[in-house]
Amino acid sequence: MRPLDGIGMTSQRTRARMVERLRQEGIKDAMVLAAMNEIPRHLFVQEGLQTRAYEDTPLPIGEGQTISSPYTVARSCELAVNGRMLDTVLEIGGGCGYQAAVLSRLAKKVVSLERIAKLVGMARQNLDRLRIRNVLIKVADGSRGYPRAAPYDAIIVAAAMPFIPPELIAQLKPGGRLIAPVGQGEEQRLTLVERGEAGPVEQTLESVRFVPLVSGVA
Ligand code: SAH
Repeated sequence: MRPLDGIGMTSQRTRARMVERLRQEGIKDAMVLAAMNEIPRHLFVQEGLQTRAYEDTPLPIGEGQTISSPYTVARSCELAVNGRMLDTVLEIGGGCGYQAAVLSRLAKKVVSLERIAKLVGMARQNLDRLRIRNVLIKVADGSRGYPRAAPYDAIIVAAAMPFIPPELIAQLKPGGRLIAPVGQGEEQRLTLVERGEAGPVEQTLESVRFVPLVSGVA
């Protein structure tokens, strides 16, 4: 088994440089930056790609899917936490579990849904290895959320949706936030919905590129 602390391009120093870059790119939340500094992203990618783990780029994780770039993860986490510690958060599109691991430091409980069983197996191994115990990762089609563990302080969608289904907003607590890439082409708009007292308030943010949300499990 490989050691948890890497050397050279997978070392804590390289990770700290990634965090410094995220700060320069505008990520401000101290809890998010600390979590990104703590979770070893190189352990979530294939061995041959580990030396690239702290570059700001998505990388393949198998099954035609990718681990999101560090900036994408940091940005959506920052929008989700909004300066507070979260109680429960739902992630849709868990992949190899990296963002779930980051969220484990920002929320008491994380529920992560992933439609590809093989990736869920990988994610479980990755999280176990880091002794992360507050993430429930399930093989499921997350398009309609996971009402059983609702309501959530935040819902983060890591795959592009054509529109935001009202069922997802219904699973937010009052004041809760949903972050999702919305659109049907290669590029989507990152969208933030806050469930306000007078109804949901939607803000359209920057352009992003995510893999599409797909229905059913595999
Ligand atoms: N959060 C991941 C990003 C994974 S990429 C990270 O930390 O890097 C997006 C993932 O969404 C893919 O693994 C894909 O299989 C998954 N996905 C796509 N449609 C889905 C659906 N309907 N339900 C659950 N997961 C889905």
